[in-house]
Amino acid sequence: MKRRDFLKAAAITTASMAVSPEKADTASASPSVKSYRDIGRTGLKMSDISFGAGKLSAASMVLRAVDSGINYFDTAPDYGQSEKTLGEAMGRLKREKIIITSKFCNSMPYPGHLPLGTKKKDYVASVEASLSRMKTDYLDFVLVHAIGEMNKDLESEKKRLLDGEMLEAVAELKKAGKVRFLGTSSHGPNNMEDLLMTAVTSGRFDMIQPSFNFLKFPKLPEVMKEAHKRGVGVIAMKTLAGAKDMNKEHEGEEFSHAAFKWVLQYPEISGLIVTMKTAADIELYLKASGTKFSAADQRVLDRYARRYSSDYCRTGCGECQGYCPAGVEIATVLRYRMYFKDYGMEKRAMESYAALHNNAAPCSGCDQPVCTAKCPYGLPVKVMLSDAHESMSFIV
Ligand code: SF4
Ligand code: SF4
Repeated sequence: MKRRDFLKAAAITTASMAVSPEKADTASASPSVKSYRDIGRTGLKMSDISFGAGKLSAASMVLRAVDSGINYFDTAPDYGQSEKTLGEAMGRLKREKIIITSKFCNSMPYPGHLPLGTKKKDYVASVEASLSRMKTDYLDFVLVHAIGEMNKDLESEKKRLLDGEMLEAVAELKKAGKVRFLGTSSHGPNNMEDLLMTAVTSGRFDMIQPSFNFLKFPKLPEVMKEAHKRGVGVIAMKTLAGAKDMNKEHEGEEFSHAAFKWVLQYPEISGLIVTMKTAADIELYLKASGTKFSAADQRVLDRYARRYSSDYCRTGCGECQGYCPAGVEIATVLRYRMYFKDYGMEKRAMESYAALHNNAAPCSGCDQPVCTAKCPYGLPVKVMLSDAHESMSFIV
């Protein structure tokens, strides 16, 4: 489908709940988006499978995604060149046809999330810098990012979530037409469900973006139901549960489709974002758009769980947090290890690991690995942490 044909079609598709698969199949030989869903009460509809721009390095990828019907893009100031690359594509896009989400972050190696204590002017400056990099006038969503990542204390993290300086900045940015909606994201490991429930019930947030997949997060559906009731959108991330089958022919296809369909079977989910690095990723992932979860998909997920569950730290779990006498940030180290080993994001993983205060340096010499004993999934946590340190340290 040519771009101008797509843009014409998008005006129709974004005004309706779903595209008929028959119509989409005749419109393009390549897989395309078959379903658009409401993002809560915002009036916006997003492609069910959408673009995580954490590894975006070419403007052509954005144009390709838009041609395939993807209308939602998730980026951040600390995702390398992501915002700047989106900006390079912007002149060739109709801004009102796409939805852009960015984060309250500094532009520096991940994680650059603005901490509690940030002043209103700095929240405003963060958004203005994002707009400048992306060559656009407004963000559809700005997120308080990675709630529960660095701070184990529930009450003080709630303060970051509902910080008065941040809320005043959002009001000012909305008034100036620079931001439309407020959201928050979390991949744990600390208090993810409690923090997201606080966001939902506060009435301040239009969207939440949690980690959610078939291997973990049993309490999250409660938060999702409450969000749905209150008109708060729910956009899932980390849906591939470690993405360990992705390089195997056929299995990667079956697995990613099954994992996406599992998430999208929840009516409360507005859509999901997944990192798209190549045109082949777009083609592969969009084959699952608008399709239903089946018994065959469940078998694929069961097989994945049998093979990999003993090497997958459940993002957002955090049940071993706080037991390490050396204070190692266990779940965060293991998430960076996932980026390094499974997501092909070696540079970002190494930079983030280098910025971590309590890394896994003590683990290889630890003779009382209480972390391993505390993990309810039986993971060889000490071994995984030692491996993480060896893989991601610039100098070991
Ligand atoms: S191996 Fe030892 S030092 Fe490392 S996280 Fe576990 S308890 Fe802490
Ligand atoms: S190592 Fe085990 S207990 Fe710790 S966060 Fe990961 S899955 Fe949870």
